[in-house]
Amino acid sequence: MSRVAYVNGRYVPFVDAAVHIEDRGYQFADGVYEVMAVRDGRLADLELHLDRLDRSLVELHMETAMSRRALAVVFEEIVRRNRVANGIVYLQMTRGVAKRDHAFPHNCKTSVVVTARNVPPRPAAIIEKGVRVVTVPDIRWKRCDIKSVSLLPNVLAKQRAKGAGAYEAWMVDEDGHVTEGSSTNAWIVERSGDLITRHLDNAILSGITRMVVSDLAMKQQRRLVERPFTLEEAEAASEAFLTSTTSFVTPVVQINDVSVGTGTPGPVTQALHDLYDEHLSGQ
Ligand code: PMP
Repeated sequence: MSRVAYVNGRYVPFVDAAVHIEDRGYQFADGVYEVMAVRDGRLADLELHLDRLDRSLVELHMETAMSRRALAVVFEEIVRRNRVANGIVYLQMTRGVAKRDHAFPHNCKTSVVVTARNVPPRPAAIIEKGVRVVTVPDIRWKRCDIKSVSLLPNVLAKQRAKGAGAYEAWMVDEDGHVTEGSSTNAWIVERSGDLITRHLDNAILSGITRMVVSDLAMKQQRRLVERPFTLEEAEAASEAFLTSTTSFVTPVVQINDVSVGTGTPGPVTQALHDLYDEHLSGQ
């Protein structure tokens, strides 16, 4: 089956899908994106993703290209046309095509690209054994709350992780606090059983998975403390995990060369993994 992409109002063969070389996404990374999970053919947490998209657009003074309703229709159609059962939908909006000049162009039309694909199930070992993360300095700009396509530090961080045979890179700021992963949010479970994840500010992205998992944890009467945590605290934690649309809840059992807790996925992480899985299946 050949894949289909949505580009500026048209469904086109994936192999032919293109935007102009003077698209500001290409020239300046002047754009935003969303990645949504598809479970059993249905989009997960659509409204939360659309809320975050709206916020990113407002923060960058970008016009939306289409209404939420129209976007939802395109998402459904792209899932259908690509026969996605379990996978992702990717949306990108950029400020559009204009002569290269840093300042916003006049009368520029926001470009929209939507793609979708199936993603094979992850190896069971990831959940059963957990993963390792390495740490890198957080060298990003001061607006990491915006889901911008400008991801070069994240790309370099993930490449560092890959080169080190690790699953993810956790970024550490100048105060020694873990901010987040290159494409995931970071969590620890303290010996007291409290869950810790960094509070929302301009240093991290407000992950949709983070939001949903926070709600699920609180419904389980778990204590959740949103505050910065240091690398030393993470190393001394009884459990650690990471969350994202594509990684779900993934146990972290090693940070650099230090084992976390018993070095195996802990019960709190496992419980949250299962609850989040039920959440996805129940949509
Ligand atoms: N932080 C960063 C930097 C990310 O890129 C992502 C994934 N887009 C996340 C956190 C997790 O966000 P979500 O749960 O919405 O996928």
